Amino acid sequence: MKENMITLTIDGIETKVKEGTTILEAAKIAGIDIPTLCFLKDINEVGDCRMCIVEVEGRRGFTTSCITKVEEGMIVHTQTPAVNESREVMLDLILSNHPQDCLTCVRSGNCELQNLAKKFNKTEIEFTGVRYKKAKDDLSPSIVRDPEKCILCRRCVAACKKVQKIGAIDTVNRGFESCISTVGNLSLNDVNCTNCGQCIQACPVGALYEKPTTNEVWKKLRDPETYVVVQTAPAVRVALGEEFNMPIGTNVTGKMVTALKRLGFDKVFDTNTGADFTIMEEATEFITRVTSKGTLPMITSCSPGWVKYIEMNYPELLPHLSTCKSPHQMFGALVKTYFAQKEGIDPSKIYVVSVMPCIAKKFERQRDEMQNNGLYDVDNVITTRELAKMIKQANLEFTELEDSTFDNPMGEATGAAAIFGTTGGVMEAALRTAQDILTGKDLEKIDFEQVRGANGIKKATVNVNGKDFKVVAASGLANAQEIMEEIKSGKADYDFVEIMACPGGCVMGGGQPIKSSKIRREVDVRALRANALYSIDEKSTIRKSHQNPILKQIYKDYLKEPGGELAHKLLHTHYTARNKYNLK
Ligand code: SF4
Ligand code: SF4
Ligand code: SF4
Repeated sequence: MKENMITLTIDGIETKVKEGTTILEAAKIAGIDIPTLCFLKDINEVGDCRMCIVEVEGRRGFTTSCITKVEEGMIVHTQTPAVNESREVMLDLILSNHPQDCLTCVRSGNCELQNLAKKFNKTEIEFTGVRYKKAKDDLSPSIVRDPEKCILCRRCVAACKKVQKIGAIDTVNRGFESCISTVGNLSLNDVNCTNCGQCIQACPVGALYEKPTTNEVWKKLRDPETYVVVQTAPAVRVALGEEFNMPIGTNVTGKMVTALKRLGFDKVFDTNTGADFTIMEEATEFITRVTSKGTLPMITSCSPGWVKYIEMNYPELLPHLSTCKSPHQMFGALVKTYFAQKEGIDPSKIYVVSVMPCIAKKFERQRDEMQNNGLYDVDNVITTRELAKMIKQANLEFTELEDSTFDNPMGEATGAAAIFGTTGGVMEAALRTAQDILTGKDLEKIDFEQVRGANGIKKATVNVNGKDFKVVAASGLANAQEIMEEIKSGKADYDFVEIMACPGGCVMGGGQPIKSSKIRREVDVRALRANALYSIDEKSTIRKSHQNPILKQIYKDYLKEPGGELAHKLLHTHYTARNKYNLK
């Protein structure tokens, strides 16, 4: 269908755009960058902060450009003295109620408020008065909330309520007392928060951030008595470079491994190897459920934000959840057993650090179930952002580093494991292995395009060995809810369901580099990072998890068989129904 085009004039420039375009988008096409603050594409389009106001000839007062659609013949002025003055007053009011501690702030250098202050040439604070005071909430193992830094843009509320359909946080009180809080003003730790971290990704300032744990890692690295092992998740390698101004979606695996070696880790391993184990165990579990008429559909369990969500919201569906631990937990368990034994190291002296795109994994690692012989599988989880900070603290010139490869004996992984980091990837990897096991063949058709791409819900029917399997991959908790309601009502006839808590999967996890509203408006961050993972897969010599030689060796020498007794003890877990609120 031919799209209607609209012609308008913006700051004297005639511009042609598609019908339905906002003035903000049209201005961008005309080469004009209107400032925004509360706006976040597809998430918070409400026109509250008034930073994006413009004047439109024939209209009284100001027009909010982020929510106003273009009209034929419209004449727009984005830089009049009145517009500029009004924006400045808005900014001055925000700055007057803001702690001026950029020097020590976690977001300094990547803060949309700081950028606006620079853009408007703010060299002093215009208004002074009483400032809003409120204590930090740092009880959650995943997130710190600093309400004093909050500028009430409500982007986090929209991410939590609209994108994730959780509603753990909302605006409370009025006027000067307005703030973002939880039910009963409880800690995020005591409410229905899943630790997905999408609120952190939405926040333009330093009011929300991951619970920092790098100091503990430094301490262990300096302790000669501790053997420190690090593992890195698939999605980290295609995003870490962004923290060093490299293009979004650059694959920096080699530089990342070199940096980790230079930081002093005793072994640098790959969580992708753990992902291959997850696929082996999960595909085996799926086939067992199919052949023994077990509970179907089977639902994946590698996204800890999703696991906490189902425990809180759909406890009656827990039997559907695969009992497999997530890849980094499986890997940690194998490091402290198989690897410790092989290398003759006392497992209690091993400290496992996981570098993850996810902040829910900080919660997951300290769950009681994630232990073996009194030792946690994983001792510390740091985010992609935290690893970048460590690299900077160590004065390493990341972009100049040579490439190096993961350590052995546990540093080899397949292309199937790489795509774990994007929505649909776990499903595709599991199908590659399940179809080979069911047919007893090494099948050539291994790309499952039906479960790739940006859609929040992707359904497909896959024929394996003459039998049709109905599968669905969903990302984002609002989409997860839709699938759970279908299953609960008995309407769904899926066999296998993949759920990732973060929209787009781990590439867009809460621990990944934070992109400003402007960047998120201009480029598809998810697609760039996901494409980099698919490219790693395509270039891999081995693309099926069950063909990983390390995995075969470890099953042969140690675990014996997928789904066997030892595999169950180390690589599987159980779940518990959870209260949503810890109301006293
Ligand atoms: S949130 Fe931004 S403006 Fe506020 S202290 Fe941090 S860096 Fe500075
Ligand atoms: S972590 Fe997720 S669930 Fe928790 S408040 Fe943030 S967006 Fe909501
Ligand atoms: S916490 Fe951040 S995202 Fe949420 S309202 Fe405050 S400044 Fe905006």
